[in-house]
Amino acid sequence: MFELTDSFIKDVKDRIHKKPNIKNLSFDEVEEFVRSKGFERYRADQIINDIYVKKIETFAEMKQLPKELKQVLESEFEIVSILNQRKRVSSDGSIKYLFELADGKSIEAVYMPWVDDKGELDRSTLCISSMVGCPVACAFCATGTLGFKRNLNPSEIIEQIFRVEKDLNTKINNVVIMGMGEPLLNYENVIKALRIMTSEKSKILSRRKITLSSSGIAPRIKQLANEAKPVKLAISLHATTNKVREMIMPISKSFDLTKLMDSIEYYYRKTKIPITYEYILFKDLNDSDEDVERLAKIAKRVPSRVNIIPFNDISFTLPQGISKELKPATRALMNNFATKLRDKNVAVIIRDTFGDDIEAACGQLALSEEKNKSGDK
Ligand code: SAH
Ligand code: SF4
Repeated sequence: MFELTDSFIKDVKDRIHKKPNIKNLSFDEVEEFVRSKGFERYRADQIINDIYVKKIETFAEMKQLPKELKQVLESEFEIVSILNQRKRVSSDGSIKYLFELADGKSIEAVYMPWVDDKGELDRSTLCISSMVGCPVACAFCATGTLGFKRNLNPSEIIEQIFRVEKDLNTKINNVVIMGMGEPLLNYENVIKALRIMTSEKSKILSRRKITLSSSGIAPRIKQLANEAKPVKLAISLHATTNKVREMIMPISKSFDLTKLMDSIEYYYRKTKIPITYEYILFKDLNDSDEDVERLAKIAKRVPSRVNIIPFNDISFTLPQGISKELKPATRALMNNFATKLRDKNVAVIIRDTFGDDIEAACGQLALSEEKNKSGDK
């Protein structure tokens, strides 16, 4: 299952996080470091190219660098910060990866291949995490029940892509920051990772191929709009009234629908990028004709698309209260709801339940891992 040998894993485990990871440095900071040690500026570009384009994982392999610089780098930095721990392949082709961090915590990423009519791989999307756990604690979400453990640093965010590309010997075409965690509550590290990923020098991805999903941290949405390279924005809406939204997403007590929509309008005005609204359809909670009316109004405020998402029922992991009462809508109900929205000229898609059989909805593999660990004690 691992593409790395056991001895390599042990070696890396012994080394990671004993020193700072070089992928946590912006490219300006790499340059600053190189110059501070008395080397010429172009050496920084060689290091960046070796790490991000050639994906070299030891300084010793950086052939163009002088020996002295390699030694300095070796003594100050690490390159690898996460390890493949487990992966589960679903019958639909999606693969759920569990990664181990240096402090023993786990995060997940989900690989989704899209095949064309001939069965050839057309493009691939990787869903990556931004935190271990999540402080937002939405009633329907397994990651939320883990609580907040810690923010991921830029190297841990970026390396999820590298680990999967290496494991599958493929190039990831799209990235969605939709795994564990609320990216806009780890703003600084997520932005640093995005700047590295979208840089001309790293050649990882264009900003048009990246989607950031948020539960709606209004001030941060405005901040993101002002970044030099804004990405696509998906908003976990899931309700059309403050009352219902507050029941299932406690964050809406801080940022209600008025504040959220204000920030979304700002985002669109600034970036001209259409918004995606994510809407888990729950039976008898947010599926009425009035919801259709209100959702259509919301969706028309700026150019947008609504993704109707089947609820991945995780009630077995959830605490008492509203979580236990959430029920998935049937396929027929979802089709019906989507048709009514389309009749109001709203662009709607019903999301596939990619990876259903491997618990692909956010947080669940890492959750079972946590449980195993506590069971071991
Ligand atoms: N924190 C961010 C990104 C991670 S959650 C956010 O909330 O947007 C990614 C998506 O998975 C969100 O749209 C979230 O609402 C959805 N999700 C969480 N739990 C789910 C479940 N049990 N079934 C279906 N979708 C779920
Ligand atoms: Fe956090 Fe998103 Fe899960 Fe809500 S849905 S608890 S914001 S990861």
